Amino acid sequence: MKIRVGIIGGGAAGLFAACQFKRLSGTEDFEVTIVERNNIPGKKLILTGHGRCNITNRKDASLLKEGFHEAGNFIYPALREFGPEDTVRFVEDGLGLKTKEEDNNRIFPVCDSAITVRDTILSYLSGSVKTICNAEVQEIKKTDVFEVKTSAGTMVFDRLILSCGGSSFPKTGSTGCSYAFAESLGHTIVPVRGALAPIIVKSDARKLTSSLSGVSVNVKLSLLIDGKVTASQSREMLFAEFGITGPAAMELSREVPPDIKGINASVEADLIPDMSDEAFDQEMQKLICDHPDTKITTLLSRYMPASAAEEVATLTGTAGQYAQGFTKENRKKLINGAKHLKMEIAEVPQIEKAYVTRGGVSLKEVDRKTMQSKKTEGLYIIGEALDIDGISGGYNLQACMSGAYLAVKSILKSV
Ligand SMILES: Cc1cc2nc3c(=O)[nH]c(=O)nc-3n(C[C@H](O)[C@H](O)[C@H](O)COP(=O)(O)OP(=O)(O)OC[C@H]3O[C@@H](n4cnc5c(N)ncnc54)[C@H](O)[C@@H]3O)c2cc1C
Repeated sequence: MKIRVGIIGGGAAGLFAACQFKRLSGTEDFEVTIVERNNIPGKKLILTGHGRCNITNRKDASLLKEGFHEAGNFIYPALREFGPEDTVRFVEDGLGLKTKEEDNNRIFPVCDSAITVRDTILSYLSGSVKTICNAEVQEIKKTDVFEVKTSAGTMVFDRLILSCGGSSFPKTGSTGCSYAFAESLGHTIVPVRGALAPIIVKSDARKLTSSLSGVSVNVKLSLLIDGKVTASQSREMLFAEFGITGPAAMELSREVPPDIKGINASVEADLIPDMSDEAFDQEMQKLICDHPDTKITTLLSRYMPASAAEEVATLTGTAGQYAQGFTKENRKKLINGAKHLKMEIAEVPQIEKAYVTRGGVSLKEVDRKTMQSKKTEGLYIIGEALDIDGISGGYNLQACMSGAYLAVKSILKSV
């Protein structure tokens, strides 16, 4: 009798788990079935990396784990057992897709196509793994076996991998079903909210962000809660109609409290992050002295895009002024605008627009060496369903890959 393994959710984690079955066992002792609600698996996978699929990040596991915030220690054994080099080897030798490394150790397929990655995985699995699409799982019961009630009928499995994802980008199929299923099987859910999401600012600040929409700056972006800095990010930030996005804003978004009613939540951008206020003031004084006939915005644009310099000058009431006669008071205003650009946050980052979900199945109830549930024997939980969110740059797909490997290895060992 073959062992029946059900993979609930054919997203990145579910597909990677199916690949590991094929890679490690040839699937002859196992009947592996992916159950997917959409008409095709991997709807979120094809959006990754702006359609190019940033599949992993080439870093040592000890460094990589730092990108997983509070979940770093939990994910570490998985990253050590199946890390970025293993992912690259599998993508290249298993799937036959060449990879390339871009800035910040990010790995992409040479074809620059997430659709090709998804379709190549489906071809790789075809004939070895059964994929049932248009089958929405409605209920999971555990007796001696797992009884999975779906819109396409009830299915029975001996082992179950729960990989229905989180609740970000729900239009791709991940609507938070993992949580209800995990709860019904004895698990606790850490409240979910958006991570890697754009930050929407109040209308006052939106005047500035919309006029700079599309402009990218290197900043130190800090989150201020009732005037106190609670987190910061030094990376690129992109102005947008609604507020701010780009790596710095997206990374910071997970730190915005789940409820900001009654608190003063704002972000402060330092547009000249490599210099202290004092050092910048000294430089300005020298520039003002050396170039008395130059407009102050021209001098400021040495440190940031010209459009940003114009906006900062307008905001501080110094636009149109020349270096000659530029007062100490005005310098102070300019420094404040350029290095302490405050924007009030209008709302908690929306989960619908977040790239990943913060929160999910509590890690305390899952064995980090096998991904097996500590509550229900034979149940494995992987991917974004877990309370794991990584920074951008290939971390989240790598977490899916590493978790999938541990789960499959453990299932293979269990028989
Ligand atoms: C726009 C965007 C770009 C991204 N880019 C990157 C990137 O370049 N690199 C990176 O590392 N990460 C990236 N991420 C994050 C990454 O895509 C996710 O972390 C990853 O897809 C999570 O995989 P998962 O399998 O856990 O969940 P998902 O990929 O969400 O898959 C869950 C699957 O389960 C199915 N499902 C849900 N409920 C049911 C049900 N009741 N019955 C049956 N099936 C069900 C869903 O339809 C879906 O197919 C990006 C995310 C987004 C939104």
